[in-house]
Amino acid sequence: MIVKAIQGYLSAALLTASVATVAAPISPADYQRVVDEAYAQFKDEKGGANADYIPILATVPSEMFGVVIITRDGEVYSAGELDYEFSIQSVSKPFTASLIMQQQGPRAVREKIGVEPTGMAFNSKMALEIYEGRSVNPLVNAGAIAAVSLVEASSEKDRWQQVLSNIEDYTARDLTVLEEVYDSEYETAWGNRAIANLLFNYGRLYSEPEEALRVYTRQCSIGINTLDLAMMGATLANEGVNPKTGKRVLDREHVPELLAIMATAGFYDESGEWMYSAGLPAKTGVGGGIVAVVPGKFAIATFSPPLNPAGNSVRGLKAIGYISSTLGVGLYGPNAGE
Ligand code: GLU
Repeated sequence: MIVKAIQGYLSAALLTASVATVAAPISPADYQRVVDEAYAQFKDEKGGANADYIPILATVPSEMFGVVIITRDGEVYSAGELDYEFSIQSVSKPFTASLIMQQQGPRAVREKIGVEPTGMAFNSKMALEIYEGRSVNPLVNAGAIAAVSLVEASSEKDRWQQVLSNIEDYTARDLTVLEEVYDSEYETAWGNRAIANLLFNYGRLYSEPEEALRVYTRQCSIGINTLDLAMMGATLANEGVNPKTGKRVLDREHVPELLAIMATAGFYDESGEWMYSAGLPAKTGVGGGIVAVVPGKFAIATFSPPLNPAGNSVRGLKAIGYISSTLGVGLYGPNAGE
């Protein structure tokens, strides 16, 4: 009798212990609280500087800061700047890679572009010379220009339309190109032109180089706001289905490969540092946007123009790191966020 009682007590205690290790669901109040806290904590952060190698980016007001979470069910939690349209820049890159996955499968991305992080700057020509795959991965400029060239298109117009409508499927609204950004970037795109020509020379570009450069530059000049960015990430968090429209944008079985590329190369040559501190697949852009994905749950997006030397938004990376560690949602377990 006593033994039975002790056994009963022990199994109840064990049950309690195992239940205690399962994270409690995150409530709407929790989501709003962490968004508000991240905004309040980092809005006065003064580190970093706007990108200026694309001259017009230096003129974007540096103090703007927005933080948004959208869950896989489409619930929105936000603070700060939500409406300002900034250029998507490199945050577009995984989404065009997803279009290639849809059209040709993940094997084409691996074989025709590559999936290794470079450990070098996003616009490195040295990486292109050192690595035999040349384009290396779709999140550096070389791989992103190669991805645009791989879109199965009948003309430049068709190529551009496919790139744009794929990104619109992720944002769930019509988008326009910030023409001033496009002009500013295309007029100064000597480095990216060199990359496109080198790729073509090595047989790793799949369309005419100047066409790929123009469409890539237009892609980077698409105007989006912080809410759009969060909806793009929420579509990935929702296994490839846009939570707002219900449209499948990426096949479910391809989502893990895309997130893997974001985890290893999404933060430029600071991707190891990022995974160490925040533990989430993410993509940043020199326009000041960042989107991070908590697979199967939600996405976090931030917008703030000042960048650190690696090209990542200073307020944004701190805000997302804070949210990831506070909610304990790092991929490999709760990260300390330090
Ligand atoms: N359009 C930019 C470039 O090609 C994208 C850079 C970025 O956001 O990382 O330099």
